[in-house]
Amino acid sequence: MMYDVAIIGGGPAGQSAALFTGRAGLKTLLLDNEKGLTKRALVKNHYGVEEITGSDLVAAGRRQVESFGAEILKAQVTLVSKEADGFRIETESGETFEAKQVILATGSNQKLAQTIGLKTKDGREKYVKTVIEADPAGHTSIDGIWAAGVAAGVSVHTIVTSGDGAKTAINLVSELRGERFISHDAVPAK
Ligand SMILES: Cc1cc2nc3c(=O)[nH]c(=O)nc-3n(C[C@H](O)[C@H](O)[C@H](O)COP(=O)(O)OP(=O)(O)OC[C@H]3O[C@@H](n4cnc5c(N)ncnc54)[C@H](O)[C@@H]3O)c2cc1C
Repeated sequence: MMYDVAIIGGGPAGQSAALFTGRAGLKTLLLDNEKGLTKRALVKNHYGVEEITGSDLVAAGRRQVESFGAEILKAQVTLVSKEADGFRIETESGETFEAKQVILATGSNQKLAQTIGLKTKDGREKYVKTVIEADPAGHTSIDGIWAAGVAAGVSVHTIVTSGDGAKTAINLVSELRGERFISHDAVPAK
């Protein structure tokens, strides 16, 4: 089955990207190894949320992502390779998936990006040695592969990484549609 978008990494950046691509009606697959460290956080600085544990934040994100139609699977992605029509994604357990576009939201671990052959550079945030080279829209050095969150070099805070995932997804959807994508809902009129 060909997905419109495969997102690798299910932290705040990947989940937020999946929420926006799912909401835009793109067939979205989110692959995550469930080794994210956000579950150890106690977040008191996420705008609009007075206090939340990282595990509650990610669990709420998962429910939102699924409610917008994206699929979430537990998997360790080992390779992403270019095919005629998009990309082939391989996992450690031998599963393969196909997607037209890929977003890497793999946090501080750039092993997959380097295996794929994406350009990387030194990270500037504490504890983040290497990040993927991405332009302000989220494009990487390989057309059709995007980067978001800590993997793309932004500040290691949930409000920033989730916003960056949303930004990259909005840019991806906008490029596919050929016009800027806006996802707004309003309170029904009385
Ligand atoms: C102890 C702790 C406390 C923190 N406290 C705060 C706080 O108070 N406030 C705040 O704003 N931020 C806090 N943070 C930081 C916050 O958690 C990060 O900014 C945010 O999680 C990064 O989001 P991300 O989605 O970019 O990356 P991550 O959350 O790291 O998500 C990346 C995901 O991709 C997965 N992955 C990587 N490679 C693969 C692969 N090949 N295949 C499949 N999956 C893969 C990872 O395992 C992970 O699940 C804290 C972090 C820690 C560790």
